[in-house]
Amino acid sequence: VNGIRKKAFLCEKYVSGKSMDQVMADYGLTSVVKLGSNENMYAPYPNALKAMRDQIDMVNIYPERDYIRLKELLATKFGVAGPEWISLGHGAGNVLDSVAKTLLEEGDEVIVPEQSYRLYPEISKIMGAKVVEVPLDATYTISLKAFAKAMNDKTKIVWLCNPNNPTGTVVSKEDFDWFVDQMPQNCWLVVDEAYAEFADEGALPDVVSYIKAGKQVIDIRTFSKYYGLAGQRIGYLIADPDFINWYDTVSEPFNSNRLGLAAACALLEQDAEECERCKALMVNDRERMNKELEAIGCVPVHSDANFVFFEMPYDAVEVSESLLRRGVIVRPCAGWGYRRHMRVSIGTTEQNNEFLKQIRAVFGELA
Ligand code: PMP
Repeated sequence: VNGIRKKAFLCEKYVSGKSMDQVMADYGLTSVVKLGSNENMYAPYPNALKAMRDQIDMVNIYPERDYIRLKELLATKFGVAGPEWISLGHGAGNVLDSVAKTLLEEGDEVIVPEQSYRLYPEISKIMGAKVVEVPLDATYTISLKAFAKAMNDKTKIVWLCNPNNPTGTVVSKEDFDWFVDQMPQNCWLVVDEAYAEFADEGALPDVVSYIKAGKQVIDIRTFSKYYGLAGQRIGYLIADPDFINWYDTVSEPFNSNRLGLAAACALLEQDAEECERCKALMVNDRERMNKELEAIGCVPVHSDANFVFFEMPYDAVEVSESLLRRGVIVRPCAGWGYRRHMRVSIGTTEQNNEFLKQIRAVFGELA
């Protein structure tokens, strides 16, 4: 019991946004616009849905053990030699956790961006590692220069979120290239590219090229965002085959589900055009939302993800509460130390317009 207590004590309780049902019940609403968890509101895509329906009668049977079909599709997509460069997990969150289990021991150190996905410090602490948090720079961007200063011979993992959640910013290719050569011998650079598909063309370093070149770099991705499969929990990593072997030894068997696997294959093979079409709508709305937010006195940050992040002239927790009462779920960023900042996912155009309408109304009340 004490051991359990100690672990729980080390961690923050993971708080995801309120559910739609909860918000409807709490505020007596009949509909809610959910823009707090960076989900894809144009999905599920048609062939993914069909593939899941085709599998539903077989959920009493474990999925194929090695997930070869999905791994082969991913290997081709990323230009690695074969499926031995890929492994899967129940969403990127589970992949991150298994990577931490694979690499970390008591006494190791890890570096995390202070304003970033909160899972990195939690899974590192659980493994007994010391967490060194490095604040973002003045442009809300992860500073690899500051990361390099914080590294030492005990640093085992550098967790890099690119694009970063919650700010949507990316590190430059030049900084990335420089940083890879600064890492101590035993250190692994784990790049969480959950939002990579939404980044501007050419904005991101080609992480896989570093992996192929034999650098100690790991790329983590997900079907939850661009592919719109958050409820089915399919994430993956691309890494050197030796690392994949260790990862597969440490992670549990059957760490992916039958419906999700079938959907992921269909998304890659049959829904690619639909994914791109909807992404274009989301990226277009991202830029439009930022312009409209600017027009009402907010200061948006350029985002390479499927959400916007901006400073506002009011307390963002209060504004979020008012938005909730009006049926719009968003994510205030006070938990990251940003009292006047908010993260809002890009939904469908109709949902985005509803958010813009309601935030204008809330600002009107506060002015
Ligand atoms: N990494 C980042 C940066 C995220 O924002 C999220 C989810 N919000 C995840 C990983 C986990 O995604 P999933 O487990 O759904 O693949």
